[in-house]
Parts: sequence; C-alpha cells; structure tokens
Amino acid sequence: MANRVSGHVDENGRECTRCRQYKSRENFAKSGAYAGFKNGIPSWCKECTNHFGKERRRNDPNVNIRARESHRRTRMAALIAYGGDPPHCACCGEAELKFLAIDHINGGGTAHARELGGSSLIVHWLKRHGYPAGFQVLCHNCNTAKGHYGQCPHQECREMVDETQRKYCQ
Ligand SMILES: [Zn+2]
Ligand SMILES: [Zn+2]
Ligand SMILES: [Zn+2]
Repeated sequence: MANRVSGHVDENGRECTRCRQYKSRENFAKSGAYAGFKNGIPSWCKECTNHFGKERRRNDPNVNIRARESHRRTRMAALIAYGGDPPHCACCGEAELKFLAIDHINGGGTAHARELGGSSLIVHWLKRHGYPAGFQVLCHNCNTAKGHYGQCPHQECREMVDETQRKYCQ
C-alpha cells in the first residue's frame, strides 16, 4: 500500500514528495541508494529539483551578493579595457563610473542588448569574446547625444571652424 507520508515507491518509480505525482525512475536524478532515498530514488523529481532549486538559489541573499560583486568586477574590467585606467568618456573625459557606459562605435548597441537580454550583459559578452575592437567608453550624456544627433555636440564643437560660434561651446 502507498504510504501517504513519504509517497508511493516501487521498483519502477516513485511519487515525488514535491509535486505529488507518481513518475518513473527516469524522471529522477540517478543519485544511488543512500539514506532517505527509497529504492535509490531521490524524493524530488528532476523537474521539481530544477524548478524549485533555482528558486531557492535566487532567494539566497549570498548568491545575489556574489552575483552583483562579480557583475561589478566584470563591468569595471570592460570599462578599463575600453576607457583606460581610470576609465573615462572618450568624448568629454567624464570619469564618474556611474555615468560611464560601453558604446558600440558603429551603432547596433540596442539590437545587441536585446539579443543578449539586457544592456548590462554586454560587459560579460565582451569578456567572453576577449574585448574585441569596435567599442568605446562614453558617458551617458555623450552616448545619448550620439544616439539622438548622430554625433555628440562636443564633437561638433571641436570641428567648428567659426570662432564666433565656437566660443559658445563647452
Ligand atoms: Zn516533482
Ligand atoms: Zn562624455
Ligand atoms: Zn560628448
């Protein structure tokens, strides 16, 4: 008879104690027969282990802190690789880290970010690809201006020959 506390277990499978479904052996990880695993089958099916295990890791504050710390280091490494040490904006020289971002020199940044699932993930992509050419560090101001006007007004000013207009440049 099935035992409702620990779930039904037989030669071919068992009841998962999480989703309460009877599943065949292949639906459980091969963990070998050790204490608590009836017939060598763990109490949670693979599906439950994957699903709820991930959830548990997500809610673990230590995992989140480690992930944030590792993201911060990866971002810093990318900023240094493209923006010098200490990193600064290629256009105006802004050096406040929080204002700095990686810019795709020839555009395509938005599509690339979408493809990766978020603009913050670009630094991990760069690291994986050994910091390829075609990127630079810009501050958010210069980056946004470049997106809006095609080039940053700072750049326009530098190219301006008319002395009278030039004096209004920053
Ligand atoms: Zn289950
Ligand atoms: Zn700038
Ligand atoms: Zn600029």
